[in-house]
Amino acid sequence: MAELVPTTERQVDAADILIEEEALRRADALLLEEEMAKAIHPIIARAMTPLATYFGGIIIVYYFLETTGGFLVMSVLSAMTAAILLLAEHRWLADYRSIRQLEAASAIVGLLIYANILAFLHFHPEPVRLSYFILAMMCVVTVGATLRVVIGGALLSLCTMLWLAYGLGPDILAQYAMLGIACIFVAFGMVLLMRNAIGRAVKARILADALRGKALEQAYKDALTSLPNRRRFFTELEALLEPGAASEPFFMGIIDLDGFKPVNDLYGHAVGDELLIQVGERLQSIFAEEHMVARLGGDEFSLLITRPIDDQALQALGREAIEALKRPFRVGDRDVTISGSGGFAQFPRNGRTAGEIYERADHALYSAKSHRRGDIVIFDDRHEADIGNMGRVEQALRIADLNRELSVVFQPQIDVIARRTVGFEALARWESCRLGKVAPDVFIAAAERSGLIEMVTETLLRKTLCAMADLPSDIRVAFNLSACDLVSERSISHICSLVRQSGIEPGRLEFEITETAMMTDFERAREALATLSAMGCRIALDDFGSGYSSFGYIHRFPLNKIKTDRGFVSQLDDGAIGHNIIRAMVDLCRNLNLDCLVEGVETLAQMEAAQASGARYVQGYYFGRPMPMAEVLDYLAVEATKSERFVS
Ligand code: C2E
Ligand code: CA
Ligand code: CA
Repeated sequence: MAELVPTTERQVDAADILIEEEALRRADALLLEEEMAKAIHPIIARAMTPLATYFGGIIIVYYFLETTGGFLVMSVLSAMTAAILLLAEHRWLADYRSIRQLEAASAIVGLLIYANILAFLHFHPEPVRLSYFILAMMCVVTVGATLRVVIGGALLSLCTMLWLAYGLGPDILAQYAMLGIACIFVAFGMVLLMRNAIGRAVKARILADALRGKALEQAYKDALTSLPNRRRFFTELEALLEPGAASEPFFMGIIDLDGFKPVNDLYGHAVGDELLIQVGERLQSIFAEEHMVARLGGDEFSLLITRPIDDQALQALGREAIEALKRPFRVGDRDVTISGSGGFAQFPRNGRTAGEIYERADHALYSAKSHRRGDIVIFDDRHEADIGNMGRVEQALRIADLNRELSVVFQPQIDVIARRTVGFEALARWESCRLGKVAPDVFIAAAERSGLIEMVTETLLRKTLCAMADLPSDIRVAFNLSACDLVSERSISHICSLVRQSGIEPGRLEFEITETAMMTDFERAREALATLSAMGCRIALDDFGSGYSSFGYIHRFPLNKIKTDRGFVSQLDDGAIGHNIIRAMVDLCRNLNLDCLVEGVETLAQMEAAQASGARYVQGYYFGRPMPMAEVLDYLAVEATKSERFVS
């Protein structure tokens, strides 16, 4: 798998190099020229007012000092120049528009200065006044937007100066030629220095902009899959909900992978990472460009379906995605199979804020995971009622007197070969002082969500252990653990000390865990079960067949028993299919040296079919409903008289 390991690092290195290359390329050529012009723009624009002030002021000087007939011409020209310069600053150059506009403005300014000098020299042709062209050169160097203007302006001034000097004799020409060349050097030196400094600053800014842009992009991109990340997803979701946005209905969905954790735990993170990348690609290929696929984190992906679509079409699209995920993924040299469940909610039907819509989609996902794994669920009114109920149950549980309101009932587990009850499953009951009786799967889920499960488990286990003291020593009791119990070290050590303190022989106690609980955190679950097993307790895998049903990992857990899911028993009525499934599970257990219990036997026909499949242990209403401890002893006492329930 070595080739899979450095995915993330490789992406980061490549990204860094790309940033620099991209930034430098952008800093080149036209862009650089444009950016330089932008940087020079304020310098040129701000030079206009001082120049206009000069040309305005010179009119007053002309008024008092001009003795030639040129006063009118020179004053009008100066006034026009001042006005044009002011217009240029406040109108044309108020904002940067384009390099060409800036170039034209700076060329016009240069020409106006040139025209003023020419006019002045026309009326004052003294040799010394030729030096004004030197000033013109300096002005052009300062206000020239491009090299073209600077070079053109400087050469025009120089040539005019030399041409006029030529008319004044060789001595004057030689003097001004020397002066002109010196000035050209100084002027171009200044230009180069100034442009170099500005150019460096501009390049640095372009690079910084590119880096910032890249950093921003990275901040909104999932590093592993390159999909938009959680932050980007919620930014988009918020944008769709903004008051100004066209409030068209849209769907938000969450797709959560089933069976990803075992892949990660069994094959390592490199395989897990590669699998997530491929999942992202597959989802993207299904949800065409117009839909957004993002990774929320872990094995959770989210979708924004903004194209108008009705519930049926969404269901079809969602199923297509789920089916695509069920096709094997080729990771390295192995095929990996997983699945996914999805929950969807719609704006504005199910919520008006990002939080509401997300919560609804998450609830629909939760519903899919609990009842329709490997399928998608669209949030509906029933779920809305569930949310209300869940809130009420959690509230009531928080203030409940657990010790008084919780109780345990016991349902017999039968050995059909020995024809007797060999154990009981302890099942929780809650009679809330506020809500009355609440179904165990409802309040156990509420306890898990609200963090009260540890206390609930402790109370139930204490009561169960206490009841066990009254049972014959050859009767076992099965106790259900939740996923939260399994992943909490504290909870497991608490359970261990309760068992030790009770004095009950640990081998009489069997902990039931579901596949889902086991898969929540494969490694921790394994450690927890190893601890319980090391203490001497037995472990049963509950509801087998309802979840991942991956036979591959069963041997990795210290299991003693498998309980087939209740659902399979009802399929026994359908004849061959159910029969074959149960038989396959029974055979699997035999091969792995595990006990097999068929759960949910309600009728004689089911009982016969279960027995015919080779199952040794059964449990169900046919033999007995869950009963309080007071009835258990009576039940055991009269058991012998009911042997007609067994098939000989
Ligand atoms: P489960 O562990 O699969 O428990 C078996 C459930 O099937 C029990 O429902 C039982 O009354 C029911 N059942 C037994 N025989 C039959 C049958 O022949 N037909 C039908 N239709 N149902 C049958 P219950 O007591 O309502 O418990 C429901 C679930 O609540 C349990 O499923 C278990 O997941 C959870 N639960 C119950 N007690 C506890 C507990 O103490 N701790 C935890 N963590 N979960 C518990
Ligand atoms: Ca159970
Ligand atoms: Ca069960």
